[in-house]
Amino acid sequence: SWVNFSRYFHKIIDRFELTKQENVQFVRKIPDEAIFIEIDEDKITQVLDNITSNALKYSPQGGKITFRVKELSNHIEVSVSDEGVGIPKADLSKIFERFYRVDKARSRKLGGTGLGLAIAKEVVVAHGGEIWAESRENKGTTIFFTLPLDRIQEDEWNDI
Ligand code: ATP
Ligand code: MG
Repeated sequence: SWVNFSRYFHKIIDRFELTKQENVQFVRKIPDEAIFIEIDEDKITQVLDNITSNALKYSPQGGKITFRVKELSNHIEVSVSDEGVGIPKADLSKIFERFYRVDKARSRKLGGTGLGLAIAKEVVVAHGGEIWAESRENKGTTIFFTLPLDRIQEDEWNDI
């Protein structure tokens, strides 16, 4: 269905803001104007829930988590950045594989199955988008994904 992505993203972040630890700081860099986009809301919510809970799970005390939306010509780029442990370069592409977890001992302690990002990738690709990670060990991680903007349809509307 069609949603105003800015408003929809704020609502998801609000839900996490209610339950997060006080020492974790949320920063939102989300455009004020409406960005209309056609998505499966439940599925994209699952994607954002996993990425956000990962950011919280791997953040240090007092860490900052930054939520961004950029509107580009044919798609939007959504990202969530943390200041956590980071991911070694060699593992960066593998974290989207089923059951892949970087540090077995650490991950076991923190809980989870290693499915979250594999599911996120499936959902984003099904929407015609891409998902990737950038990270520096002990500096932090950013997970990015894109969702196509249906400009063609907008143009068709303008022609009517
Ligand atoms: P699940 O999401 O199924 O509860 P999970 O969080 O371990 O379990 P994924 O979300 O798929 O699984 O993430 C895979 C692995 O990627 C994690 O186990 C962790 O090692 C690494 N990872 C993911 N996000 C981050 C992050 N923000 N910072 C550091 N490592 C991360
Ligand atoms: Mg996860």
